[in-house]
Amino acid sequence: MSTRKRTLAGYKACKQCKFVVPEDAKQCPNCGSEEFVYKWRGMIAVIDPAKSCIAKRLGIDKPGIYALELVEE
Ligand SMILES: [Zn+2]
Repeated sequence: MSTRKRTLAGYKACKQCKFVVPEDAKQCPNCGSEEFVYKWRGMIAVIDPAKSCIAKRLGIDKPGIYALELVEE
């Protein structure tokens, strides 16, 4: 048993843009980064970035699931 605690089993968040992707993804589909973290605090699902003031504030312009705050290990 792993003692590593994850926010969402099977998923990881991009270090650059906080886009949440499945654990087996090699590259972030949003920004192309290959650096990910496995722990974060809070998530936001963006369906229509143009109409979401939260997405605008976070600088999100692509629909998807994003982590709000990354936790560095
Ligand atoms: Zn990214």
